[in-house]
Amino acid sequence: MKHITVRIGDVVLGAGHPVAIQTMCNCNTNDLDAAFAQCEAMTQAGAQLIRLTTQGIREVESLQQLKSRLRQAGILTPLVADVHFRSDVALAAARVADKVRINPGNFHKDHQEAMRIFRELIAVCKETGCVLRIGINHGSLGERITGLYGDTAHGMVEAMKEWIAVCQETGFEQVVLSLKASNTVVMVAAYRELFQWMEEQGIRYPLHLGVTEAGNGRSGRIKSAVGLACLLQAGIGETIRVSLTENPVNELPVAAFIARYFADPTTHSVVREEREGLPHFRFEAPDFDTLLLEAACVIGPQLMDHQLNEFTLEGSCNGIPVSADELQDLHDELLQAARRRFTKCEYIACPSCGRTLFDIETTFAEVKRRTSHLQGLVIGVMGCIVNGPGEMADADYGYVGEGAGKVSIYRKKERIHQGVPQEEAIDLLLQLIEQDRQ
Ligand code: SF4
Repeated sequence: MKHITVRIGDVVLGAGHPVAIQTMCNCNTNDLDAAFAQCEAMTQAGAQLIRLTTQGIREVESLQQLKSRLRQAGILTPLVADVHFRSDVALAAARVADKVRINPGNFHKDHQEAMRIFRELIAVCKETGCVLRIGINHGSLGERITGLYGDTAHGMVEAMKEWIAVCQETGFEQVVLSLKASNTVVMVAAYRELFQWMEEQGIRYPLHLGVTEAGNGRSGRIKSAVGLACLLQAGIGETIRVSLTENPVNELPVAAFIARYFADPTTHSVVREEREGLPHFRFEAPDFDTLLLEAACVIGPQLMDHQLNEFTLEGSCNGIPVSADELQDLHDELLQAARRRFTKCEYIACPSCGRTLFDIETTFAEVKRRTSHLQGLVIGVMGCIVNGPGEMADADYGYVGEGAGKVSIYRKKERIHQGVPQEEAIDLLLQLIEQDRQ
C-alpha cells in the first residue's frame, strides 16, 4: 500500500498522522481586519487549517495580504482558498494559498477543456508547492456525471476517479480528496466506496471528511458527528470539518471532540447493556453538548449500519441526571441524523462564507422557529445563489440569498420567487408551503 503524505504548511496529512481539524471564515475575505480577527480566534480555538472564500482575483490579492499580516503576527495556520468555477482564480490562488479547494469538473462545461485546465493548475501547484483539495460535493455533480451515474454516491466516486487519473498521469501527489453531502447516508457511502477503491488500487490519498449544510445547534452537531463517526471508526479520514450555521469558531471544539474520540479510548464514558431486550446506553459527561457528541459517535454508526434499531438512553452531566425530555429529544435526533426515522422538519443550511450577504444565523433561527412543526419536510437555507441551489438539491423548499438584501425562494429545484426583499422572504416561503399543503 502506498500512503500519500500531504504537507500543508506545518500540517501533515496521511500515513498515520493525527486527524487534523479545520474550519472556514464566514466574513468577507476583502475585509482584512475581520478576516484577521476570525483567523486569530480560530487558531486560538485549535484550527489547524483555515479556508477562506476566494471568488475573484481581488479576493486572491486580499488573501495574500491577510497571509502576510498573519505571518507577521506569528500566526502560521495554513490558509486554504475556496474557489468555485473560475479557473483564472484557482491559478492565481495556487500562487498565494497553502492549499486550494476546487471541483475541477466545474471549471468548464466541456470535459476535455476542464481536464486541460486542471493539468495547467497542477503545473502551477508543482511549481509553488500548493496542495489541492479535489472536492466533489453531492450537490455539485455536473450534468455529464449525473447523466451517466445519476445523482448518486457512486457518481461522486466515478467523478473523483477521473481527476485522480489526471493527478497520476501528471505525477502530482499533493492532493486531498473530499466527497461531501448533506445526506449522511450518501456521504458515508461515497467515502466508503472511494476508500475501498483506493485499497484495491494499493494507494491511499488523504481524505477530508465533512457533512455539508448540517445546520446548527444540537441537530447540526449530531448530524455531523454521526456521519464522521461512521468513517473515523473504520480509520477512514485524515482531516475533518464540522460545518455549522453558527460562528465558525464553534465548529472547532466539536471537531476536536470527534477527532479525539476515535484517537483516544480513555475519552469514552459509555456503558452498554441489555435491558428488556433493548440495548441501553449510559453516558457520563461534563455537559450535555459533550454527552450528545459521544452518543452520536457511539450510536450513530450502529444506526447507520442497521446494527441497531431500538435503544434507550440514560445520561448524567457532572453527576446530575439528564431529564427524560432531553434524552427523548436526543434519541429522536440520532435516528433522524442516521436517516432511520424522521420526527422533525429537516434542515439543510450552509455554514455561510464571504459570499453570504445577509445574517444567515438569525435568518436560519427564524426559519426554524416558524417551520419546526412541519414534520417530514426538508427546508434549505443557503447563503448564496452561486452554490446554494445545487447544494440544497435534496430540499423540498429553499431560501437562498441572492445579493444584498435580496432572496430567492425555491420549490425543489424551481425558483418560484426572485429578488424578494429579505424582510418579506420568510413570509413568502411559508405562504408557498401552506399553499402546497392545501
Ligand atoms: S452555499 Fe453557503 S457556504 Fe457555500 S458558497 Fe454559498 S454562501 Fe458560501
